[in-house]
Amino acid sequence: MAMETKNLKAELLCLGARVSGLDKGRKAGAGPAAGGMFLFGGRVANVPTQSWFVSASPYSVEAENENVDGRYAIKRNGERIIEVKFPHAKFHALKTKKGIPYNKIALLHGADCLATTTIQTCVYWNTPKRCKFCAIELSLQNDATIARKKPEDLAEVAIAAKKMDHVTHVTLTTGTTATPDKGINYLAETARAIKEATGLPIHAQFEPPKELSMIDALYDSVDTVGIHVESFDREVLKEVAPCKVEIPFQHYVNAWKRSVDIFGYCQVSSYVIAGLGENNESIIEGSKLLAELGVYPFIVPLRPIPGSLLENEKPPSPDRMRYIYEAVAEILHDGGISWRKNKAGCVRCRACSALPDFE
Ligand code: SF4
Repeated sequence: MAMETKNLKAELLCLGARVSGLDKGRKAGAGPAAGGMFLFGGRVANVPTQSWFVSASPYSVEAENENVDGRYAIKRNGERIIEVKFPHAKFHALKTKKGIPYNKIALLHGADCLATTTIQTCVYWNTPKRCKFCAIELSLQNDATIARKKPEDLAEVAIAAKKMDHVTHVTLTTGTTATPDKGINYLAETARAIKEATGLPIHAQFEPPKELSMIDALYDSVDTVGIHVESFDREVLKEVAPCKVEIPFQHYVNAWKRSVDIFGYCQVSSYVIAGLGENNESIIEGSKLLAELGVYPFIVPLRPIPGSLLENEKPPSPDRMRYIYEAVAEILHDGGISWRKNKAGCVRCRACSALPDFE
């Protein structure tokens, strides 16, 4: 029997695909760096194409037929599985009046999401507390982006992305700032500019601020938020994200609760990374707790981005991810949580996690 496309997505997220001769995606960044966006069978996946383990993947992308331009198929061990398309953003080719290329300001993520890192620097970057899976400042080093995106520039790019490429929602993330708001105030300022210019639903991601009332600043400009626990295993967190383990787990819980009160059920999410050394129970039990709070557990396999401190690691196996996705999908179902109810951001985009596909 042919492989179900949700299983194919889980396999591609973990194993990657060889894309020799094609554009391999961008090299670094805070989000889905070192990957390519694949559209196949109604699914969208952000697939590793540059990491070391990709050369051992059974999956490859190849031209369908040399006579037909621009048609590609995913193959497994050389055998054709399904046609694949790659989203192409016309707005990427434009520049602002001051000559800044739009694609240094924001990028198309997934099929229809405009995404950017508002502040591309992180207070932990040059310290031992930096998250080992992160690549936020690498794209600055290779000049692929700019350190601080101006609200008016983002608004301009968003208008073009909506008009030219039918973008329907926006993801804003940030490096953590040295200020107590952890970057929230700047997220609010940029979100306001984009909202006024386009009316698009907006997602903002940040670390829990010390004073949780600071989250309220996003109320009128942002539709959904992401507050990312990364791992429920505190020992693992201590090893891979030392800055995050300094925040008590209860503070995360309080931040999620306050955010659900502000933004609503299913409008709050948390990244949960599988493959950092935790066990399945930690992810499944943690996701249960999130679901009880009305928070979407956005479970992703570890993405060892070249240049990050975990670049030599291997993602978890597709079998393990399938097991976790099936278990958590059941929990979501029982709790009435679904990506379909979410208005903006990673949960709506769903390229980086196959959990929505298993729902
Ligand atoms: S899921 Fe989030 S990080 Fe991944 S491609 Fe979509 S918007 Fe970007």
